[in-house]
Parts: sequence; structure tokens; C-alpha cells
Amino acid sequence: MKTLVRFIKAECANYDKHYQQGVWDEPCKVLAGKRCSYFEKCVLGPPDYKFQLPNYDYTKLFTKYAELTGAKTPVVEQRLCDCGKPLRPRQRFCNDCARKRRKDSNRRYNRKRAG
Ligand SMILES: [Zn+2]
Repeated sequence: MKTLVRFIKAECANYDKHYQQGVWDEPCKVLAGKRCSYFEKCVLGPPDYKFQLPNYDYTKLFTKYAELTGAKTPVVEQRLCDCGKPLRPRQRFCNDCARKRRKDSNRRYNRKRAG
């Protein structure tokens, strides 16, 4: 819990450090135990968020956020490739399968052109 509170106070742009509450006359939703779409999208982000900060344990943050707000963490909703490997967002196949499929289709294409 402390980790998450520290993370929100330090990193959430909507959190006003002086007045110890959210800006826009609204107290921080997450600290009130509610889900916050801004926090989910821009502060905590998806599991492979490219702006993740090196000095935080994101697995712990996801877990604490889920505990506090009742949100399902994106970690739990991991999509899997046909071969069982976890997929990144917007990926249809894992890197291995994508490479294999690309090779296969190249081969088919070449054969068609040769014949
Ligand atoms: Zn795969």
C-alpha cells in the first residue's frame, strides 16, 4: 500500500503535492479506492508501458492498485499466442511464431513465382 501511495504522490500529474489531494477540486480517486482512467492509462500504464520508471516495482504496483480499487490488473488479462507465449499489445503472434510465419509465406511466394 505504501509503495502505491508513494508512487501516486510522486508520479501522478493530477495529484497536487501541496494540498495533498487531486487537482480540479477532486480528491485522488485511486486513494479513495476508485479506479482512475488517467492513472491506468498514463501513470501506471499497461504492463509493457514504455514510460515505466526504473525505480518502481510495477508488479507490486499493479497488485496493490487491483487490491485497492477492485480493478482487474492488465497483468491478469494477458493474451497468449497459439503456442502459449504471452503477447504484447497489438501483437497477433509472438516473435518466434511471427518469424516462422513470415518465412513460410516467403517460401510459398517464391515457389509460386518460380513455378
Ligand atoms: Zn507463438
